[in-house]
Amino acid sequence: MVKRLQHLIGKHLVQGDSATWGQVYDPATGTLLAEVPLDAGESVTLAVREAVAAFPSWKATPILHRARVMFRYRELLERYREDLARMVTLEHGKTLDDANGEVGRGIEVVEVAASAPSLLKGETLTDVARGIDTTMVRVPLGVVAGITPFNFPAMIPLWMMPLALVAGNSFILKPSERTPLTSMRLAELLFEAGLPEGVLNVVHGGRETVDALLSSPEVKAISFVGSQPVAEYVYRTASGLGKRVQALGGAKNYHVVMADADLTRTVPALMQSAFGAAGERCLAGSVVIAVGDVAGPLLAHLRNAADRWRVGSGLDADVDMGPLIRAEHRDRVAGYVEAGIEEGAELIRDGRTGDWPTGGFFLGPTIFDRVQPEMTIAREEIFGPVLSVIREPDLPSAVRTANRSRFGNTATIYTESGGAARYFREHIEAGMVGVNVGVAAPVAVFPFAGWKQSFYGDLHATGMDGLLFYTERQVITARWWGGNGSPRLAE
Ligand code: NAD
Repeated sequence: MVKRLQHLIGKHLVQGDSATWGQVYDPATGTLLAEVPLDAGESVTLAVREAVAAFPSWKATPILHRARVMFRYRELLERYREDLARMVTLEHGKTLDDANGEVGRGIEVVEVAASAPSLLKGETLTDVARGIDTTMVRVPLGVVAGITPFNFPAMIPLWMMPLALVAGNSFILKPSERTPLTSMRLAELLFEAGLPEGVLNVVHGGRETVDALLSSPEVKAISFVGSQPVAEYVYRTASGLGKRVQALGGAKNYHVVMADADLTRTVPALMQSAFGAAGERCLAGSVVIAVGDVAGPLLAHLRNAADRWRVGSGLDADVDMGPLIRAEHRDRVAGYVEAGIEEGAELIRDGRTGDWPTGGFFLGPTIFDRVQPEMTIAREEIFGPVLSVIREPDLPSAVRTANRSRFGNTATIYTESGGAARYFREHIEAGMVGVNVGVAAPVAVFPFAGWKQSFYGDLHATGMDGLLFYTERQVITARWWGGNGSPRLAE
């Protein structure tokens, strides 16, 4: 019997009334790990009811106590870090090292949440008029919901839950139906850290569950991370209903390699960026713009490195890259390779076949040269290990080409020139910019989000933006009669 996942409502596992079930696989072997309820049924109504009931008492819990839950949570995450990483690898496929790093990036957010008593302090100005003081305080919103993608089963729920909870909200998580196992464990550990019943709920499902959350009047805000069309849909639908929304979408990330770049360091950074986690990262470098005559040596190095790249199960210690998430996704990525060939790009390394474990959803590093900016492979998010190389004569033309993208998540320049790096930073249209850094993911004290169609909303994820997203400002203007110096006594 395959395990059937249950919703976590209140603090209890609840068997949903779902009529349809999705499959959770180990993508390295194709083994079925569990089944997950796909339709919403009663789960969202029940979760919202629990979250509404738990909110007043959690809001009234002193913030120092709420922060202490985060301190304990941090210790638990560190204690079980290896187990969590293994779970991420099992359901997602990325290497254990990568999964361990992901859990670490999630723990960073918990550390920010633990410092909420300092970060959420308000502002006061006395005597704004004679005898009148003004104070601004930050109050939680109520019930907020988070909807997460498959590719960071630990880190992305941790972008949301700790900050929303420490700010005094109750939270409903709708994890990806393709990687829901880690989310359940993260939730269990929050209760072990002392979170009261009902403050956190996990409901499974796909579009129907998302729609039920978006349309629930009690849900005040939505944090979403996923593909661009769904991010736009979630943003338009929820903001149309008056909710606060942050929706982080898809990406097509350009990396510009200048002629003066140190290739011994640039090539490993590019390899990790383009092919790490099988290219299933929103910060994956998927287009390289080779400036001037760097193209020849750069491509030779990249091809050599790709030939040595070890593809296999992420659980094996000597592997650089695991499988893609599903067989259909691997076939979709292979379809992009076909499109690149048809549109006239030069396929210099074909990863569609290789000597891999049977049953898994593998596709090896694939590299195209002489890609044109208007080709499908240069424009669309492939979300797989396919790297496109475009050649440009100089930095301004490289930046112009990168800026033609409708996405603007991240972009990196590789150079030894401070002037070139500065030009790049000033002209590139991307929310997160790297200089000689292949995956320019900001640490959690900074905000995380892209520009253009990579992000819908205002306040980004994590950092102070994250805390502001989950709080409302209230300004109190107060006059007290009596006391020395009051207007009445002075008269
Ligand atoms: P996805 O959009 O398919 O799914 C994301 C979430 O939305 C899931 O919980 C899913 O159940 C739900 N969903 C899917 N289709 C829906 C629909 N039609 N209506 C309502 N809800 C729906 O994304 P994914 O494939 O799980 O994740 C990969 C995508 O996420 C990539 O595009 C990647 O770039 C993006 N991503 C972006 C960031 C970022 O920071 N910008 C971070 C990670 C991933």
